[in-house]
Amino acid sequence: MLGIIAFFLYGSIQQIEHKKKAEQLVNNVNHVNNTLLKLDHLQQHILLNHERLLNTNTFNNVQNFQFYTQFNTQYLQLYKELDTNSLIPYISVMQLNQLESYHDTLTKHQSRVVTSFEFADVFQEQITPTLHLHSLISIEFIEFLHQLKSYIIENSSALTSTQSATFIASEQVTFNLLMGSLVALLISILAILYFFYLNTHLYQHIRAHYQQSTRPILTIDQSGNITQFNSVFSQLFSHVSLRKHDTHIKKIIGNHWHDVSELLAPFNVEPLSVKQLFSIVTAPAEPMLNGRVNYKMNISTSQGVKPMVLDIKLIQIFSKFRAIITFKDQSKEEAMQAQVKLDNFTQISNKTTILARLEDEIERCNRHHLLLSIIFIDIDEFKTINDRYGHPFGDKVIKWVASTIKKRVRETDFLGRYGGDEFMIVCPDCNAAQAKLIAQDIGGLLKNPKLHVKASVGVAQMEPEDTRESLLERADKALYQAKHQGKNKVVIYKQQSQR
Ligand code: GH3
Ligand code: MG
Repeated sequence: MLGIIAFFLYGSIQQIEHKKKAEQLVNNVNHVNNTLLKLDHLQQHILLNHERLLNTNTFNNVQNFQFYTQFNTQYLQLYKELDTNSLIPYISVMQLNQLESYHDTLTKHQSRVVTSFEFADVFQEQITPTLHLHSLISIEFIEFLHQLKSYIIENSSALTSTQSATFIASEQVTFNLLMGSLVALLISILAILYFFYLNTHLYQHIRAHYQQSTRPILTIDQSGNITQFNSVFSQLFSHVSLRKHDTHIKKIIGNHWHDVSELLAPFNVEPLSVKQLFSIVTAPAEPMLNGRVNYKMNISTSQGVKPMVLDIKLIQIFSKFRAIITFKDQSKEEAMQAQVKLDNFTQISNKTTILARLEDEIERCNRHHLLLSIIFIDIDEFKTINDRYGHPFGDKVIKWVASTIKKRVRETDFLGRYGGDEFMIVCPDCNAAQAKLIAQDIGGLLKNPKLHVKASVGVAQMEPEDTRESLLERADKALYQAKHQGKNKVVIYKQQSQR
């Protein structure tokens, strides 16, 4: 805008200059015409009277003197009016000198003529010859004046044409400037209109976003005050009294606001940079979008505490900043993730989960030099149960065994289904003997009066040099030993030499 004003000012100054140039041109033309007129008068004066000066014979001295004095007075008057200095722009110095020398000659001669008349009585003579001579000098002067006039005409026309050329050029410049200013003004108006359009477009974009969304949405300003929210949001937070521009988001997310406000730090950017402006102009579909961040937290809603992900969209509307926050309920996702870790069938940890758990415990055990034992349980003669009572019955047995073992394991132990009829328990802070007691307990529980399930158990205790695989291998060998020794018993792995 400042640029346009400067442009206009420059245009106006140029306009004034242009007017001056026009005046100069007119003045020059007038001046030349005036000068030519004055030269003309002088020339005419001499020309008209020189005949009379030649015919002085028919007049007496008194008449001639009277005529001569009159001629002379007028001549001097006209020469004075001519003002030789004003001729300087149009004639050369030489010509000026020549003009002055003609004038000097004439005036000198004139004083001689006057003297002649003064002494005419004394010398008793007719002054005619002197006047003749004067007339002859005048003829030469007339000739010179004539030349001078044509020279001035020629010279002044050259000067005038140069002046008119600059005048026309300056007229063009002024016109261009004026047009330029108008075009710039038009572009600015269009730009402003376009930005208004973008602004409206942005608000529509937000409103549409609000209306279409089935998720709770709110908008906050830079300081965290809620400026907008949709009906889904007000339903979910019906226990909070919400007032636009008055309620702070802290009421919803509590102390998480400190973290969120840090995430919104890029929000405090200065007014739009050229790059941002360019991106807005080239991609108006996502107007003034500055960025997007996600933040996960537990929020208490009218339906209880829920895990939520806050999807925060940062936007800038000219100098105003807003964050549009969409609340995404993560309850289902979290439940699904937990499900992935479980064995679908028995609802205890699956093999992957229990092995990962074992890995963690081995690491912890090595770090803090703690005890760790694992227990492998495999149902005896399970194929026979399947064969005798059918596969669906077998399924029920597996589920029952899982839930029975689950009842016995400590809160610090981890139970998982390792295979078909095989289970594993990870027992932190437990030596092999303690693990054996747990296993024996479990064996007792499985002896239900109606459903008498037997199981073989292998126990192995973690040794300092153990890896996960070596520990698993020893527990597996212990289980094999239990099976081999007639099943339905608990065996702690012992090296061949130790047995
Ligand atoms: P052992 O005493 O040596 O353990 O003999 P076993 O009959 O129990 O045989 P093993 O442990 O080697 O095989 C387990 C069998 O359990 C094999 C498979 O048919 C059956 N099984 C595995 N998973 C399931 C299941 O989910 N449901 C049912 N009903 N049967 C299963
Ligand atoms: Mg078995």
